[in-house]
Amino acid sequence: MSAIRLDGRALSKRLLEELRGRVETCVRGGVTPCLAVVLVGDDPASKIYVRSKERKAARAGIATRDHRMPATTSTEAVLACIAELNADPEVHGILVQLPLPDGVDEQVVLEAVDPRKDVDGFHPDNLGLLMLGTPRFVACTPQGCMRLIAEAGVDLSGKRALVVGRSNIVGKPVAQLLLQAHATVTIAHSRTLDLEAEVRRADVVVAAVGRPEIIRGEWIKAGACVIDVGINRVDVGGDKPKLVGDVEFEASAERAGSITPVPGGVGPMTIACLLANVVAAAETVLSAG
Ligand code: NAP
Repeated sequence: MSAIRLDGRALSKRLLEELRGRVETCVRGGVTPCLAVVLVGDDPASKIYVRSKERKAARAGIATRDHRMPATTSTEAVLACIAELNADPEVHGILVQLPLPDGVDEQVVLEAVDPRKDVDGFHPDNLGLLMLGTPRFVACTPQGCMRLIAEAGVDLSGKRALVVGRSNIVGKPVAQLLLQAHATVTIAHSRTLDLEAEVRRADVVVAAVGRPEIIRGEWIKAGACVIDVGINRVDVGGDKPKLVGDVEFEASAERAGSITPVPGGVGPMTIACLLANVVAAAETVLSAG
């Protein structure tokens, strides 16, 4: 491997340590940053994510409130919970863990969160502000990708950046952030005719597809910065599935200048950026007196 391995675990630890000082300032000013987590249903992966978010919040001195509801909960009942949290002055950030069960209208719920408490950055107001170049809360995974690119020391100005995937929570916002950093941005998706050709000319590749190793190592431009958002569980015959990204790691690491591993790359950064958004929300309340 010749590429620099971008260690999301180490960087996220550093970010969380930096947050502690900001949290202490808030607490001294009488505002304890608080994240409310809404978890509907019993998706095992969601439970693990929520536990991990709450544990890291506690470590940074951020309070959390847990709102768990059964999978049979109606959209109206989730909306009632969100309305209470919107009105609660002690709650600064609201996180609705996705995916929601089939019976709950995800878009309606996300739009019901007060945009000033939308620490996930999924509300249309916050996505619109990002588009205008005046962001309030930036979605956490895209923010984490940008911090990793900065950690790699890449100056994006004038570089060709390729985002593979166009979801509202990763692909589109990260493309906006790359554009704001003056990269020349291409977004590839399932209808892209020649993904290989797009990857071959990219100085920066952000892969957010959800297909194991769809991006082959031999396609990577020499020296490129590769950010792998994908999390795929593949059966390798043991008791547990193996976690792999959207990028073929070993072969890409031979050619890339820097690359994120899966796991241990983008994943830990997402939680650190979420908590940074919660602290920023609390700081806004503090400075408003
Ligand atoms: P998503 O909503 O399913 O979007 C996937 C995107 O990939 C779509 O835009 C789709 O194109 C595109 N795509 C599918 N097949 C393709 C192909 N053959 N070639 C090129 N593009 C293709 O997924 P997501 O929510 O953005 O998540 C993507 C991955 O990131 C998943 O593995 C997810 O688990 C992971 N993830 C990780 C984190 C983290 O914290 N590390 C956070 C969020 C997501 P179309 O639009 O044309 O269908």
